Amino acid sequence: MRWAVAALVFWACATAPGHLRADASQTQAPTVIRLGRTLAGGATRIERLDLDDYISQVLAGEGQPRAADAAQQVLAITARTFALANRNRHRSEGFDLCDTTHCQVLRPATAITRRAAEATTGRVLLHQGQPAFVFYSAWCGGKSELASQVWPGAIDYAYEPALHDDACEDEPGWESEVRADVIERALRTAGLRGTRLRNLRVLSRNTSDRIARIAVEGFTPSEMSGNEFRMAVARIAGFQSIKSTSFDIDRTSTGYRFEGRGYGHGVGLCVIGAGRRAAKGATADQILKFYFPGLTVGAYTATSVTTNAAPAPKKAAPVTAPDVALALPGNEEGERQAVLSLIRRSRDEIAKATGISAPASLGVTVHPSVESFGRVTGQPWWVSGATDGAAIDLLPIAILRQQGQLDRSIRHEVTHALLDAALAKRPMWVREGAAAYFARPQPPGKPDRVECPTDAELTRPISAGAQRDAYTRAESCFARGIAEGKRWDQIR
Ligand SMILES: [Zn+2]
Ligand SMILES: [Zn+2]
Repeated sequence: MRWAVAALVFWACATAPGHLRADASQTQAPTVIRLGRTLAGGATRIERLDLDDYISQVLAGEGQPRAADAAQQVLAITARTFALANRNRHRSEGFDLCDTTHCQVLRPATAITRRAAEATTGRVLLHQGQPAFVFYSAWCGGKSELASQVWPGAIDYAYEPALHDDACEDEPGWESEVRADVIERALRTAGLRGTRLRNLRVLSRNTSDRIARIAVEGFTPSEMSGNEFRMAVARIAGFQSIKSTSFDIDRTSTGYRFEGRGYGHGVGLCVIGAGRRAAKGATADQILKFYFPGLTVGAYTATSVTTNAAPAPKKAAPVTAPDVALALPGNEEGERQAVLSLIRRSRDEIAKATGISAPASLGVTVHPSVESFGRVTGQPWWVSGATDGAAIDLLPIAILRQQGQLDRSIRHEVTHALLDAALAKRPMWVREGAAAYFARPQPPGKPDRVECPTDAELTRPISAGAQRDAYTRAESCFARGIAEGKRWDQIR
């Protein structure tokens, strides 16, 4: 059984009734970042930071404190590009970016990091006139990695290849030991089932020698991707425990010993490599050209960020608004009748089943690419749809069809558009559970008694697998309420 989501498509979707779509802000070059600051105890406080102030704190959190100015500037430009390209990531939570490794880590700025942020102000890496989707990691270990090898379904851009990075090859490797019970707990937290880990075994490596698949014998599923394994262990034992997926495994009397190279996912810019290059006299532009061949460094202006996504449907409905305003990419115009009738049928069936009246007009935007969908919705690669009020965003129809998820994705998102307002005050699992429940053509069998997922498990999962598990539990919790005789709007 393949458990990791190899396919792009997954019926997760983030919704938050009442917040605005991001299109207005996308025509302005933002100078402010709304940061979700993690507080002791796990709460999040939203802070508004000037973009360069934010960048100077990211450099302190992610960079090398003593690296030369050129290396600081390289990271300033890369981190600014990352921030602008990903600023919809936490839209559903009311801020742009968080302060954990999920987005970028912040520490108090220093004179050096402030100077680098100011020296590069407004400058980003551009791809077709927009901030590029770029990554960076602490140390690539001598071979950088393709995005698709870390995140299934991610797009590999020609400007972000897997490179041989001679500048950082001679860095010494790392070693660590993790107790078996810690790994077992990590696997359960990541959504696998099992109690005792019988063995850990490398199943396959990719071209950069990182672990592609790893066997976790004694657990179900019995294998996972190298990256999911690393993230699962990091969540329980810290990122120092397994610094990268480039490692060998030895068994010890109490657990497992890992011996590896590299620190981080290894995609894109290598922070240590950039520091070594700067120390040898390379300029910021030369270093960026090495790691991101084909990208240009340029000013980020209002006109450079006009989104190339299909136009968002008008929100304020004019008198003649159609009941479904469907925006399709040009190459999928031929699907119009089929998709329209699927949307209308889903809407009418769900309205009938729930007794709620559908919005007068539904706006549905089918995106021309995964990239465009991700840019507008802020959703990760494996998500197929997102709904905000009566506005629905979907992946290209061809991709949904190919994955056998077209019906289900449309029914899921239409359910959100119909029911979310009525369920706005409930935990997120109620809204997601309802959407999953009504997306099925038939009600599920008797649902398992499971722990209902927290909002964080649904919105900030450590892997595609963990998110899928959280959505499955949301559906079971919701279906259980129905099986106990509750009405859909009585489940809480
Ligand atoms: Zn984040
Ligand atoms: Zn490197």
